[in-house]
Parts: sequence; C-alpha cells; structure tokens
Amino acid sequence: MLSVPGEMLGIVILSRERAPRYGLGRLVVDGLDAAVCRKARFAFDPSPGQERGLLALLAACCEVYNAGLQERREAWRRANKSVSLFDQFTQIKGLRGLRDDVLAWGIQRSVGRCGGWMQAFAGFYRRVKAGRAPGYPRFRSRRRFHTASWDEPTSWKVNIDRRLLRIQGVGTIRLPKSAGRQLARLADRGGVPVTLSVTRRRAGGTSEHPKWVWRASVGFKDVTPLRAASPSDLGNGRESGAGRVVGADRGVAVALATSEGQLHVMPGWMGQARETIAALQRRQARKVKFSRSWRALARRIAREYRKVAQRTDNWARETARQLVAQAEVVALENLDLASMTRSAKGTIDNPGRNVAAKSGLNRALQDVALGRLATWVCVKAEEAGRRAWLVDLAHTSQRCARCGHIDPNNRPARDVFVCQRCGHTAHADLNAAANIADRGRACETAWHQAGSPPLPRPSPRLRRRRRTETARPRLAPA
Ligand SMILES: [Zn+2]
Repeated sequence: MLSVPGEMLGIVILSRERAPRYGLGRLVVDGLDAAVCRKARFAFDPSPGQERGLLALLAACCEVYNAGLQERREAWRRANKSVSLFDQFTQIKGLRGLRDDVLAWGIQRSVGRCGGWMQAFAGFYRRVKAGRAPGYPRFRSRRRFHTASWDEPTSWKVNIDRRLLRIQGVGTIRLPKSAGRQLARLADRGGVPVTLSVTRRRAGGTSEHPKWVWRASVGFKDVTPLRAASPSDLGNGRESGAGRVVGADRGVAVALATSEGQLHVMPGWMGQARETIAALQRRQARKVKFSRSWRALARRIAREYRKVAQRTDNWARETARQLVAQAEVVALENLDLASMTRSAKGTIDNPGRNVAAKSGLNRALQDVALGRLATWVCVKAEEAGRRAWLVDLAHTSQRCARCGHIDPNNRPARDVFVCQRCGHTAHADLNAAANIADRGRACETAWHQAGSPPLPRPSPRLRRRRRTETARPRLAPA
C-alpha cells in the first residue's frame, strides 16, 4: 500500500525466513563482509528525445513482462509444469529478426525483465510458504509500468568522471552534480557499478501529455564497508571488550526503546500526515468515482503518502544510525508487522482495541516506519561490521528483566512494568528492551558455541554461464 523509496539494499542481508537460527533468534547480519553492495540514487533530466526513448523502453519491458507471465501461467495451467528462465532466454534470442524493436535495448534488457517476474514469482512462493496472503503475480498495464532494470552491466554504462549515463537505444544522458558526487563516493570506496534501474513518476501534465520525473539507481558491488570504531574502543562502553549487545524494542507509542535506557517516540509529523490523508480520503469518498475531482484528490493523497514515506525513511535511517553507533551487536524482536496491521485484536502490547479506519491508517504508517527501522538497522550494522539478530518476541513484554519471572500481571498499565515476584519496577518498553538484549546475548553464545559460522553468501551471478543444449535448465524457484 505504501511505497517507500529504496528497495531492500544489499544482497547479503538475508530475509527473515532464510536467516539461520541460533537459540531463540535468527542471525540476519554477521558483520563479516569484506565488501558490501550499495546504491546511488538520483534524479536526472533526459532530453525530449531521450525521454521518448525511455518511454518506448518501458513499453517494451511491459510487453516482455506480460508475455513471460502469460507463458508461465499457461504452462502451469495446461501441463502443470514450470517454465525456466533458461527456456525464456532462448526464446528471447529467437526474437532476433522478428521483433528487433524489442531487442533494440539489448538482449540483456529483456532477460532482466524476465528476472522481474521471476522475482514476482519468488515472492509469491515465499508468501505461500509463510502462510501470508500470496497475491498471484498480475499482468501489468503499460500506464502503470514505471521501472526498467538491468541486473548486469551490459547495454548501459556510467562514466563517473564525466557524469554521463549511456543506455543502449536511449542515448547518453548528462547527470546532475549531486549524482556525480554519490557515484564518485562509492567508486572511491572500490565500488564497481553492476546494476541499474530507471523509474519514472508522474508529475502533472494532462493524460494525453503527461509530465514525468525520472530517477535512477545504480547498484555497486565490492564497496569497502566503513568500519566504525566500536563503542568500547571509544571508551564509553560499560563492558569493555567485544560483544556489547544492545536490545531494541519497537512499538507504537514508543517507537524505539533501547536496553541502554533511551526512549524514542514516533515523530509528530506522522500524526499530522494521518490527519491530512484521512481528511483527503473523506473528501474523496463524497466524489463520483473516477471523476476529474476524484482523480485530482487521488493524486494529492498519493503525494501525501510519498511525502510521509520519504520522511519516514529519513527518520528510520537516522534512528538506526544512532542505535548501531552504540552497539557491537544489535538485537531486535522478530515482529510480524504485516499481521500486526491485519489483526483487529492488536498485539500483546496493545490488546483488544477495535481498529477503526483512522487508527488502521495510523498503524499502517507506523508499521512502515518500524519496518524501515529494522531494514536500516541491518544496513547500518552491515556497513559498520556489527552483528544483528532478530529474536523471538514471546514473553519479552511480560518477563521480568531482573529475575526472569513471566506473568501477564507484571503489566498493570500499558507502559508500567512491576514484577509480581521481585518487585522490579521499570518502564515497560525498557524492560522489554532489556529482555531482548538478554535474548540477543543468549543467541550470541549459541552462535559462538556453533563455531561462529558466517552467513551463507549468495554467489555472485554477474555472467550467465554458458550451457549446452543437453544441460538441464535451472528451474524457477519453487
Ligand atoms: Zn522480577
């Protein structure tokens, strides 16, 4: 529902489902990378001719995407078999001479699009497996197809010194200074540009002559991590030596409570954004659906969502930076934010409140913020060479951090914790954060006992291996 700028960064951060388990938590970042992946994101301004090229490119991508999806659906329905990326790759090569317009942007481009729906299917299977609402990949309309991506450095090239981006079939685009600075910074850290994605966004104009703003994202591999001095080296650590674990409890009223005793609340503009969006939605509900004024309001609502998403991302990044700076190991609880939003019952911390439309919207905004926070904690931890854990959240809010007594009556009020056995009294979220830190320490111990194995790294797939006709094609992930 909310689109947040920036997809998941870096391929090294494993998804929650795949991260290995040690004790009561999953290791998501091991902080052992010699090199990380980073992205430079920037706006650019193509010439009118280049814009026509980019629009034609998106139309072709959309066509390939839908054709690939169509074939997969048919194959599945008729023969109950899945079509591999390899099969489709050979078909794309067969387009030579027949549909040179599609191939004008390079064969790689079309394969990249197949990769796009491969990802869509991989997400579909992952959601089925996790028991969530799967959402079968859908055909996409040309009007809604906004992104072209290249997952290998072919048919495009970026010249960092001269600030030029050349895309086959489109031309050479001059990039703004800020883009040049970002690209140079990653290149200076040893980064090699390997992926590109180009996105358009509607910015006014009429439906016959829409105006677009364009953004690009260049992914770099082999970027040297910025290993910050660890907190104990700086002399402000209570426990000297390695392995200071900071636990962080994410919640709605208190966005982030740390076992170091800090309480970060949700920023105030989030509530204001909720009021603005709810007011616009009420106005829109009174209009005739799809009328001119209804559509104008829809665009304003989208703009408000975009604004709040941008601010949320900035807030999450800065909060995560502060958290990672004081820890050698970060432990977060493994929240299932999707089901928190769905459930009208709420969570252990917020039980039984009937979720009205407005508070549902509020929760959605805050859940996105909490999700972004976790993502940025992982990214910052990876970059600083720290470990990050997602620990099980069972009983973290009811357990006494001092004596370990677990009792629902330990929570007489929402933000008060009073242990029924030892009398330990604390802010409920700080008590939970201390429990999460305890659990993180237990995970650390289990991990060290297992010989501190590093996380499995996906093997880089920069060049497609040549396969003979007899070789068994790799099947799509199932
Ligand atoms: Zn106690």
